[in-house]
Amino acid sequence: MKLHEADAKMLLVAQGLPVPPWAVARTPEEAGEAAAKFMAEGTRRVVVKAQVLVGGRGKAGGVKLAGTPAEAEEVAGRILGMDIKGSLVRKVLVGPAAMIVREYYLGAILDRASRRIVMMASAEGGVEIEEVARVTPAAIHRVAAHPFLGLHDYQARELAFAVGLGGPHLREFVRIARGLIALMAANDADLVEVNPLAVVREPGPEGHVERLACLDAKITLDDSALPRHPELERLRDLDEEDPADAEARHYDISFIHLDGTIGCMVNGAGLAMTTMDLVKQAGGEPANFLDIGGGAKADRVAAAMRLILGDPKVEAILVNIFGGITRGDEVARGLIEARNRQERDVPMVVRIVGTNAAEAARLLHEASFETAATLDEAAGKAVAAARRAAGGAR
Ligand code: GDP
Ligand code: MN
Repeated sequence: MKLHEADAKMLLVAQGLPVPPWAVARTPEEAGEAAAKFMAEGTRRVVVKAQVLVGGRGKAGGVKLAGTPAEAEEVAGRILGMDIKGSLVRKVLVGPAAMIVREYYLGAILDRASRRIVMMASAEGGVEIEEVARVTPAAIHRVAAHPFLGLHDYQARELAFAVGLGGPHLREFVRIARGLIALMAANDADLVEVNPLAVVREPGPEGHVERLACLDAKITLDDSALPRHPELERLRDLDEEDPADAEARHYDISFIHLDGTIGCMVNGAGLAMTTMDLVKQAGGEPANFLDIGGGAKADRVAAAMRLILGDPKVEAILVNIFGGITRGDEVARGLIEARNRQERDVPMVVRIVGTNAAEAARLLHEASFETAATLDEAAGKAVAAARRAAGGAR
């Protein structure tokens, strides 16, 4: 689950990291009022930023500066309602604009290959890191945090020196780097990015001072760990969520959309993976990973069917159920019910073994479903059916 910048910044603040203040506005008027409030406190310019769950807002025109409340209102009016990479802007963040001296990149990801949180820093800040990785990979510096000890001071200092941050900023950088790693552990995040992490100039009692500030924040939380963080789950933006993902979550179905044409409905993650492998071996491409979980009842089977058929590329469906806690007859009833209701007629091949398989076979036979005894046979039949369907359409 991705967090909006404003919510991500809240987690940074909770770690004591330096983030300029902000307000969230849903209308141009609210943005103007927020700007007026900051300006009454001495701010000369504000920044207005689109709150959408995609990066590159700056390039897309979703980040703008304003010098008066009226200008902030006008700018917010242009940003709200904007379409940025397919996301509709419904909220903007308004805050005092920082005077940027230099931009850096600082981020951390859960790296499955090394089984560690890897922190990355680059002096090429403000630019999307994927772009830096492509053009100048040597400009990205990495260190791996210890799973139990976190990020050592010396590792953070190594990163700071690598990107050319020294002097007074060294200590600030170390605190921010360690704070981000702590934030990941505390919130079960698998990605944190501060881009730009910036040296900003601020008026002080004795002239200007320069210090580090986190001007943008991007956080992705581990969905599987969300039950441990109900307060974070509440931050989910349903407006920006794929409706299929929302339905899958509602019915407790693990569903991952893929590019192929064979829809797969399976119980158990391991069996689902095996089923996908066998589809490939039979010469097809799976359209999805779908695990209906244990003990699925008819309504969950019907929901799974809707999810699969929601993908127009699906040419055939392969159902592979190994009945244990899940009862085969219950799944068969769900399939029959779902087929009676479905709008699109897609060939289906069903293999059900285990608990109540005989009853399932009887029901499916009566409803003239195509069945298979083994997974190999089922995969072969599904791939052949998809080929026929594709051929017939042409
Ligand atoms: P992104 O494009 O979605 O990553 O959005 P960012 O929040 O990173 O903003 C993009 C760019 O806008 C930054 O790299 C900065 O150059 C600029 N920017 C963002 N906030 C400020 C600010 O407070 N002051 C100034 N002067 N520029 C800003
Ligand atoms: Mn950014």
